[in-house]
Amino acid sequence: MTPISKRIGVLGAGQLGRMLAIAGYPLAQKFGFYGTSDDEPSALLGHMHKQSDDVDSLVNLVEFTDVITYESENTSIEQVREIAKTTPVYPAEKSLYMSQHRGREKGLFDQLEIPCAPYRIVDSLDSLELAVTEIGLPAILKTTTEGYDGKGQFVLKEESQIKQAWSEIGNRELVLEGFINFQRELSIVAVRNANNEHVYYPLVQNVHHEGILRYTIAPAREVSAEIQQQAEGYMQSLLDELDHVGVLTLELFETVDGLVANEMAPRVHNSGHWTIEGAYTSQFENHVRAITGLPLGDTSVRQPLAAMINIIGETGPVEKVLTMPNAFLHLYDKEERPGRKLGHINVLAVDEDSLYKDIQALSEFLPKA
Ligand code: AMP
Repeated sequence: MTPISKRIGVLGAGQLGRMLAIAGYPLAQKFGFYGTSDDEPSALLGHMHKQSDDVDSLVNLVEFTDVITYESENTSIEQVREIAKTTPVYPAEKSLYMSQHRGREKGLFDQLEIPCAPYRIVDSLDSLELAVTEIGLPAILKTTTEGYDGKGQFVLKEESQIKQAWSEIGNRELVLEGFINFQRELSIVAVRNANNEHVYYPLVQNVHHEGILRYTIAPAREVSAEIQQQAEGYMQSLLDELDHVGVLTLELFETVDGLVANEMAPRVHNSGHWTIEGAYTSQFENHVRAITGLPLGDTSVRQPLAAMINIIGETGPVEKVLTMPNAFLHLYDKEERPGRKLGHINVLAVDEDSLYKDIQALSEFLPKA
């Protein structure tokens, strides 16, 4: 084994684990996955420990590894706490605990003076009605846990919708958030290692359709140095407060009054996939470096502009991508299914004109609207 080689265990075996492994192999890292089936995107990229096999699968994975990481903020806290008794888990429990509950997350933003939407936690129709009078309408009602890709959300425009909203996603703890009149959705990916090194990628712009990220422009256009610095400042406070090790992502709204935090993820993120070819060190390699105690890599862009286009639902005419010199295809080896993320295309460009020309050429991969 080379001196820097570690055995990394990943809880989950989806595309994020797959891309972590692809980034980790050149650094002689070894991977094991805790997943559900041999058809998952990571299954052939390391040793697969199946949850269904027997109760010892997780124990076997932990015994195999030097360090454990995870793919999702919905990873069980209890599991992580148990594993951490014998093996380091990065990002550690606090990052996971804060990120898996919208109320705790917003409490943390408040504590660190990171602006976010006004909010109230509600757990009954009565408390929802009261929250609406306090926050005002329009507002967005969200489940406090387990929401993703816009699921578990209800946009409240009128008071007459309150009962319907409660019966559709309620009967559980929810958060009512004031509606932010944003100009764009941005995100920032940052990385910290245990030696307290921090690195930041540039702010990117994210465009969603039906709650799912469709494409990212990196770096986001017309972002002033002050705004980038402000975002990095928020990330630094979060990374330090959480004692975070690994990648942390923050989704933001850009408004006329500045940046407003939406939510964070203690993991590599879809809005950071452009970094595979677009930055000197990808988010995946930097996550691997961070959790294995290696120095972090340069986050600068390789070309002035990049775009990441998600391939959703149907694989589509991907052969075309292979004929484009500055486009890069990443497929996750998943079955087609409506709304499912099957892969992405990264495009690098020297200027805005050529970027938009390439995006136009790939318009079959974008929603019609
Ligand atoms: P989320 O799951 O919190 O990322 O929300 C999904 C999408 O809903 C976001 O990407 C925004 O487009 C929209 N959204 C969420 N929260 C708000 C808000 N407070 N104000 C306006 N739009 C929002």
